[in-house]
Amino acid sequence: MLVTMKELLDEAKVGGYAVPAPNVDNEHNLRAAIEAAEEMNSPVIIGHICGYNPDIQYFGRIATDLARRAKVKVAINLDHGGSFEDCMAGIQAGFTSIMIDRSQSSFDENVSEVKELAKAAHALGVSVEAELGHVGVGQNYAVDGKQMLTDPDEAVRFVKETNVDCLAVAVGTAHGVYQGTPKIRFELLEELTEKIPVPLVLHGGSGSGDENLSRCAKLGICKVNLSNDLRKAAIESLLKQDISGDGAYEMYNYLADGYKAKLKHYIEILGSKGMGGELND
Ligand SMILES: [Zn+2]
Repeated sequence: MLVTMKELLDEAKVGGYAVPAPNVDNEHNLRAAIEAAEEMNSPVIIGHICGYNPDIQYFGRIATDLARRAKVKVAINLDHGGSFEDCMAGIQAGFTSIMIDRSQSSFDENVSEVKELAKAAHALGVSVEAELGHVGVGQNYAVDGKQMLTDPDEAVRFVKETNVDCLAVAVGTAHGVYQGTPKIRFELLEELTEKIPVPLVLHGGSGSGDENLSRCAKLGICKVNLSNDLRKAAIESLLKQDISGDGAYEMYNYLADGYKAKLKHYIEILGSKGMGGELND
């Protein structure tokens, strides 16, 4: 069932769990993500980063078709939407949500660009995610992990002025592989949850630690983006196989096995198992 991201996140906020947002870029990992969600009866947000598939219109057609046929609720989100044109292309491709990432712009620029795009997206029934503070990359964790955290009062103003449906916050996670140990600011997260009326999003779920993620889900994070860990699990599963005979023909199945197993693990951790609104055939 294809739904908006707002619907999934509003339900997660009430239910006190987080919906996984696996990073997907082709038909194989798309099918793996939806199958994992169906097997766990979990909602799922397909996260597609602009540019990872060379043909977003084609990707959108496959993703929306598979989502409509899924037994669980599926939203399709354009992750880290870049230019205005990229975001519009995502909407045209059928995405039910777009993230407008202006987290490296000034507060005022971030507000004005997000506000403009949110107005257009909402008019077409598409949800909007933005980011305030900045979730950096793991290699710069020593600096970004401390200096770019979300300010709660700014965040309240931001949500009010932009009318976004959910907000990605920087509370100590990073994208990719951490250089050093992740330190999540739980007190900051609690304050953000208390003050901000819309669901909160965590980027950089991979490598952040199961206990940390589970605690974040209980403290108000309603969506966790996952990429590196899923891709690594897929590759590790493939590398374990014997490909001396006909094994090479199973390449995509081996990749899917690893991807699915890791995603199912995270569905347990985030508490979204059983929340997918499973449809009967
Ligand atoms: Zn991200």
